[in-house]
Amino acid sequence: MRVQTELSENNEHSQCFFKNMAIRVHNLNGTSDNSAPEPYNTWKEYWKKLHPSHMIPMRCPRCGRFLLDPVGAHVQKDTLLDRKWYIVPICRGCNQANTSFDVESTLLVPVNP
Ligand SMILES: [Zn+2]
Repeated sequence: MRVQTELSENNEHSQCFFKNMAIRVHNLNGTSDNSAPEPYNTWKEYWKKLHPSHMIPMRCPRCGRFLLDPVGAHVQKDTLLDRKWYIVPICRGCNQANTSFDVESTLLVPVNP
């Protein structure tokens, strides 16, 4: 994965850039009842409006496949220091998985900013 390559270069300069920071997260299961706040119909829509790019990534950040049918998944960082919920666009298959994965920190949109 591109993110890991950039980090493993151990380039002092590239590590300074926030956009290259990979964060380990895990899916929050049982959040499907948790609907997106007004005026958003879906969490995907919420993510698109609040993310600075307003563009869903072309590839799923978890499996690397083309993101043809993205969902706004609820995730939480694998750290006790940050218990906030975030939305990240991933594919439906990955939304079912419950193993942790690395994602660029800039792809995380907080649920309650
Ligand atoms: Zn995926």
